[in-house]
Amino acid sequence: MATLGGAQQKCMACNKTVYLVDKLTADNRIYHKACFRCHHCKGTLKLSNFNSFEGVLYCRPHFDQLFKRTGSLEKSFEGKNNL
Ligand SMILES: [Zn+2]
Ligand SMILES: [Zn+2]
Repeated sequence: MATLGGAQQKCMACNKTVYLVDKLTADNRIYHKACFRCHHCKGTLKLSNFNSFEGVLYCRPHFDQLFKRTGSLEKSFEGKNNL
């Protein structure tokens, strides 16, 4: 396959071509500016305040909520449930 790496850049979120005016790079991935929002609450994200999992973007609270359940938070909840 003869691909010109980077000649056609696709948005990680919607898989459509991203043009330079609409381009936003985060985590070495390309997004439309409009697509750079939390997958869960659709809240707009900032480059300084976002998390991504396999190219899907989340705001910090939702990332924590969805992916860090095995952390100390879960343990404290379990502890309460057991009482
Ligand atoms: Zn997009
Ligand atoms: Zn969110």
